[in-house]
Amino acid sequence: MPEHIPHVLILGGGFGGLAAANEIRNSLSSSQVKITVVDKKNWFMVGFAKLWIIKGTRTFENSTALLSGLSKKDIDFLNEEILTIDLENKNVKTTTQNLSYDFLIIAMGAQLAPQKIPGLIENGMNLYDYKESRAIHDKIKKMKSGNIAISIMGMPYKCPPAPFEASLIIDSMLREAEIRDSVQIHFYSPAPITLPAAGPEISKQILDLINSEKIIFHNSCKIKSVEPNKLIFQDSEADFDLLLAVPPHVAPDIIYESGLAEENNFIPIDRDCKTPYENVYAVGDVTTLKITDTFSVPKAGVFAEGEGQTVAKRIISKIQSKEDSTLFDGKGGCFIESGRDTASVIEIDMFSGPVPSTKLTESTSEHLDEKLQFEKDRFSKWL
Ligand SMILES: Cc1cc2nc3c(=O)[nH]c(=O)nc-3n(C[C@H](O)[C@H](O)[C@H](O)COP(=O)(O)OP(=O)(O)OC[C@H]3O[C@@H](n4cnc5c(N)ncnc54)[C@H](O)[C@@H]3O)c2cc1C
Repeated sequence: MPEHIPHVLILGGGFGGLAAANEIRNSLSSSQVKITVVDKKNWFMVGFAKLWIIKGTRTFENSTALLSGLSKKDIDFLNEEILTIDLENKNVKTTTQNLSYDFLIIAMGAQLAPQKIPGLIENGMNLYDYKESRAIHDKIKKMKSGNIAISIMGMPYKCPPAPFEASLIIDSMLREAEIRDSVQIHFYSPAPITLPAAGPEISKQILDLINSEKIIFHNSCKIKSVEPNKLIFQDSEADFDLLLAVPPHVAPDIIYESGLAEENNFIPIDRDCKTPYENVYAVGDVTTLKITDTFSVPKAGVFAEGEGQTVAKRIISKIQSKEDSTLFDGKGGCFIESGRDTASVIEIDMFSGPVPSTKLTESTSEHLDEKLQFEKDRFSKWL
């Protein structure tokens, strides 16, 4: 009888899924393991490219790489929607197929849920939706004066520094158009400080950075609803001409239906990224990894990638019948572009002590080059 080749099924071809698929394939050949990545999209984009589309230096087309590129690595790509995950029977149903697996990696990310805020879809634009990035660019380009509101409408959200970067990039667009003095930028957050995950010191540095560009930060603004040209918070209201919102994030419905997460939560994992089901792992934005009672690993590509690599190492060892105790190391860096052709990096070490240790580097052109290189590296090593 031919030997059974183990099948690793990866749900989601984003940071976590692509990192895991490639890490496994780099160690094991197609005669040792079959790898399938399923995604309803047929492309991959680094999240921050959306900000460059808003800025106008990028288009959707030149910011994406096709997932069909996985075939070069002997990784199968199935471009279909995942409909159900049946963990008892080890079966995943997609639009046309039933897929069985020996190992399952759930890397389906977080979904944007603007429908959770009454009036948002009708009256605001979604800062995080690639489909709206170009339209946001056009709206900003058409402005002559007025009031731009950037509003975070739920926690946790992907890449905590990104809305601040967006405000700085928009500031630079208005400066270039020589209308900065006629347009105000207001930033509304439900949090008491700019970046709770990075701690009070870095939050103060980010506050100073945006204040230096006359971006006004309003803390503890918990959104209730949006009306035409008006944000309604629990304790106050604010007017706007253009609203750019970071909507609440949720796990995909089928994650709740599979029983892996409770309603309005993400899949709880530990540093081994295991779920209660044998050989079923979860990584990235679809998960919650608590560090302390108040801190969780932020939703960011670098951490999804690190978790994907952790799971890959565990699966490689299992297939090779070796012991493996690899744990996610919790280290990573997030860029903050200043809008003045420089960037700084927030370096985070999640598990270095009782609370995460964080450091903000100087803002330099070299770090901006590193940001471009970060994207290039992911495209070339994964696809
Ligand atoms: C504006 C912006 C800037 C950012 N900047 C940074 C940054 O500088 N650094 C950083 O590290 N991170 C950044 N991020 C965050 C980063 O993009 C995410 O944290 C990262 O993509 C999470 O990876 P993931 O693999 O968990 O999920 P994702 O990359 O979201 O991948 C999940 C995949 O699952 C697929 N999927 C979901 N449901 C289904 C289904 N039912 N059927 C089929 N396929 C499905 C989706 O199509 C998607 O491709 C940024 C994000 C944004 C929006």
